[in-house]
Amino acid sequence: MTASRAPTTAEELRGAGLRVTAARVALLETVREGDHLGVEAIASGVRDRVGHVSLQAVYEGLHALTAAGLVRRVEPAGDPARFEGRVGDNHHHVVCRTCRAIADVDCARGAAPCLTASDDHGFAIDEAEVIYWGLCPDCSATSS
Ligand SMILES: [Zn+2]
Ligand SMILES: [Zn+2]
Repeated sequence: MTASRAPTTAEELRGAGLRVTAARVALLETVREGDHLGVEAIASGVRDRVGHVSLQAVYEGLHALTAAGLVRRVEPAGDPARFEGRVGDNHHHVVCRTCRAIADVDCARGAAPCLTASDDHGFAIDEAEVIYWGLCPDCSATSS
């Protein structure tokens, strides 16, 4: 069996029907290497790679990557959006109420929707997005 070469980031963008630019490649790589980064952190990661890119271009790029399914947007209530490269596995998140640390939690059932609605109102439900809220180990240590 011959090992097939993993597609490059540029090939993945092209495969998703997106225009390939250095900024978009840098954007996708920054999101994938980061851990649920916010837009400002992503913008600075992109600038480290390719020089100046406007915040507007970062927003537009993230929108395109999210729509193409290459990037996932996580938006805990009351917080700015964060982005991650882990897509397609219906995982959930746990968020610290105090410091806003965020971590991945595998889907409870392994496939969407992992919760059965008590009343589906006739909707064909295909996803349940769960955010677990609490205190991270650091914050619960300092608050006790
Ligand atoms: Zn915390
Ligand atoms: Zn995640």
